[in-house]
Amino acid sequence: MKIPMGMTAVGAVLIVAAACAVSPTGRKQLTLMPESQMIVMGVQSFNEIQDTTPREKDPAITAYVQCVADAITRLPEVHRQSADWQVVVFDEKTVNAFALPGGKIGVYKGLLSVAQSQAQLAAVLGHEVGHVLARHGNERVSHQFAVGETLAVLDAWMAAGNKSNRESAMALLGLGTQVGVLLPFSRVQESEADAIGLDLMARAGFDPGESVTLWQNMGKAGGGQPPEFLSTHPAHKTRIKDLQSGMEGARSQYRQAQAAGIRPDCKAPAITG
Ligand SMILES: [Zn+2]
Repeated sequence: MKIPMGMTAVGAVLIVAAACAVSPTGRKQLTLMPESQMIVMGVQSFNEIQDTTPREKDPAITAYVQCVADAITRLPEVHRQSADWQVVVFDEKTVNAFALPGGKIGVYKGLLSVAQSQAQLAAVLGHEVGHVLARHGNERVSHQFAVGETLAVLDAWMAAGNKSNRESAMALLGLGTQVGVLLPFSRVQESEADAIGLDLMARAGFDPGESVTLWQNMGKAGGGQPPEFLSTHPAHKTRIKDLQSGMEGARSQYRQAQAAGIRPDCKAPAITG
């Protein structure tokens, strides 16, 4: 890796932390950022979104989303990522959701019109948490750094610097649509998040077959205009086929979870407005 000239304190930290990491599916990754820094970025981004987005007030809706999220976040490897996941439902019609390092999950109310059952919502949350567990934000920051573009962004971030640099960093975390800097996850990352998400939802006791229905719904939603979710989480043609090829293993995990009494029963409320 080439180190840009004029290296700063942040650069020095990155080099010390540089390591060949392996993702949960066994893929080699370039992850240069210390996890502690990713958590700072995740938490700050979450705070910023909370400051500018109205929260859902209907307790039945927030309890429903919390119930589904709890089933996912109590799985051991998700709990290891953060012992205290926070879930916020935003009162906006946009079809979107995200998860961030530091244990933050945001769900926009509009998603609930596309994710029409607890298992479909679990498919989205499992996928989002999958991006976090596989350190996709770190990987994206690291690739940018490797081409010499991220140092200034990170310096600005740490110094609470200018808005556009902060927005670039948020886009790297997968929050492109929130800040208007479109930066879709790569196909490799999408497939990996799908595989991890399928495993998580099944072990959390949700029917993994609903993941296929979710992506079908996502494809149909929007009436000509694709859901915002798809602009940072592009759907590819092989996605449903890939999910189906992992289905046998997932169904077996699902049956084991059911046999162990893991049967989430989150009550979906009627969605109005
Ligand atoms: Zn994704």
